[in-house]
Amino acid sequence: MPYIQQLSPHVADLIAAGEVVERPASVVKELVENAIDAGATAVVVEIQGGGISLIRITDNGCGIAPGELSTAFLRHATSKLRRSEDLAAIGTLGFRGEALAAISAVSRLDVFSRQRGAQTGASLHLEGGVPEAVEEAGCPEGTTMAVRELFYNTPARRKFMKTDSAEAAAAAAVVSQIALSHPEISVRLIRDGREELHTPGDGRLLSAIYAARGRDFALGLVEVDGGGEGVAVKGYVTEPLAGRGSRAMQTFFCCGRIIRSSLLTAALEEAYANRQMKGRFPGCVLHIDLPLHQVDVNVHPAKTVVKFVNERALFSAVHHTVADALDAAGRASASQAVPPTPPTAPPPPSEPQAGKTAPRDGFYQTMDAQTFRGKTAPQRAGEIRAAGSELGGRLTFRDAAPPRYGDRSLQSAGRPTPPARREALPASVPTPAAEREPAAPAGQTALPPEQTTFTPKPAPWRFAGEILRTYIVAEDGDEVWLIDKHAAHERINFDRLKAGAEPIMRQQLLAPLAVELPREQYAALLENLPLLEEFGFEAEDFGSGCLMVRGVPADLDEGLVRETLEDLSEKLLTGGNADPAAVRDAMLHTMACKAAIKGGWTSDPAELRALIERVQSGEVQYCPHGRPVKVKISKYEIEKMFKRA
Ligand code: ADP
Ligand code: MG
Repeated sequence: MPYIQQLSPHVADLIAAGEVVERPASVVKELVENAIDAGATAVVVEIQGGGISLIRITDNGCGIAPGELSTAFLRHATSKLRRSEDLAAIGTLGFRGEALAAISAVSRLDVFSRQRGAQTGASLHLEGGVPEAVEEAGCPEGTTMAVRELFYNTPARRKFMKTDSAEAAAAAAVVSQIALSHPEISVRLIRDGREELHTPGDGRLLSAIYAARGRDFALGLVEVDGGGEGVAVKGYVTEPLAGRGSRAMQTFFCCGRIIRSSLLTAALEEAYANRQMKGRFPGCVLHIDLPLHQVDVNVHPAKTVVKFVNERALFSAVHHTVADALDAAGRASASQAVPPTPPTAPPPPSEPQAGKTAPRDGFYQTMDAQTFRGKTAPQRAGEIRAAGSELGGRLTFRDAAPPRYGDRSLQSAGRPTPPARREALPASVPTPAAEREPAAPAGQTALPPEQTTFTPKPAPWRFAGEILRTYIVAEDGDEVWLIDKHAAHERINFDRLKAGAEPIMRQQLLAPLAVELPREQYAALLENLPLLEEFGFEAEDFGSGCLMVRGVPADLDEGLVRETLEDLSEKLLTGGNADPAAVRDAMLHTMACKAAIKGGWTSDPAELRALIERVQSGEVQYCPHGRPVKVKISKYEIEKMFKRA
């Protein structure tokens, strides 16, 4: 065994340098961060040969005193940290005092610096970290660092470098990120003599995004500004339809520092759940600010990984702020086409309120679970029939000629098969002998339902018709709206089911239905009978792969029972070890989809109008799989097609 000896400072520096300086991009990051810490308002980054030949960073910051120039390159030399207590609240980007030592150890470096207000500046040359003499130099206020021949003395590391263009791209990515982290600083990147990026430094994040991420990205954004529990969340996120194929466009800053965090990614993506198509990812530039002592940045030499004291609060702040912004943006975009205060603006999407079941404005009728539970079973059964024209009790479709109570208008119109004779009951109530008399919804006088009239108010839009038995055509001012009736209805169903505010109505089948299933699917369903019951199914094991179904959700066509059960079992099987909430969501998708009107079915215009209304109100934006529910075409676009414009 050779004898033990302390490493020479030079070798120790080289080892340490390996941690901080992995590739040219890391040099760029450290040097630009130093410029920012020095209070610069403009930073120019030049790179040549992928950053291996040259990286030159020029700033107009505070500069370094000639007497401190060589000290700055010593290991653990810093002006940003004095006492151990300072580590608990780090407000600068740098603090470890390692970067200059590390970078100079693996390159040939020149620095020129002049302090603000000083008559002259000074320069210093270092070869592999060994400084030459400090010399007086005429230079502008601020600092210029020129790093040449990176890794010239560490050939092993040099070999790991990718092509010049890959290294340059990585460096450019770092510069973009820094530009986004400090919109108040003008950042310029010149690569092999060509300007690649130039942010104005006007303090507006959107300007920086425009310059760094491009026009397309900047135009599809929603502004986010909010937070909670001491966490501020500010910035921009992509509109759900502008999702990307990867997470590359997700940029998070914490207290001005770029960070990678699976927690933040999850919080962001959770806000897009059921809004974004599968396989698409939101993009963002989000600034998260919280008290410095709530974050530990001293976890990794590259300082891109941080620890949060209160992860739950952070998750919740990001998730809710983004979700709220997306909701608000959705409503705003829907109302853009509507006059500011339309005389007949549809009532805002409302949660059911206890004790209120009277129809409002003749369009909506809600029944909340509490009111519902407070009644006798026969009363309930009657009410279900009374409200039974709708999608599980939430929405009634009423128009100039209101359908008779008891019509299952959305369900029955144009169906390939007429609905079977059956009774509707809330899923949670056992099967009593239901009375036939329809009772008036609570809060209403007991007029015979047929005589109840509703006066529909003129809508700001006009129902123009339906095409391909799938798309509703509506006209609103100078815009034509195409609405996918299935997608819209599916979304309404899904939101209602997910909110879980009302019991799911079950209808008892007069003749039970035997559903035979493949072994695996059968087993999956058997294990989850209580869940099926929650969804409105009443089923029992009939042995050898057969389920006997006695009750089904009220808004599910009998012809679709088998298909729906198969789908549900697939979701259970593929869900495997996944998060139970996600499996449940997937199952709710199935329920919402199966209970929705389908493309290809003929629909009653009254139903279609009711759908338009929900889409117009902004409440319905995307189907639960993230596909758009509506497409708007402007008069101008149409005129262009006909070469009139
Ligand atoms: P750290 O940033 O962690 O303090 P560095 O090795 O990056 O360590 O820098 C060492 C010191 O050199 C800094 O603390 C700062 O005082 C000084 N310095 C580095 N770059 C600049 C710059 N561009 N302008 C002014 N001072 C600088
Ligand atoms: Mg530094």
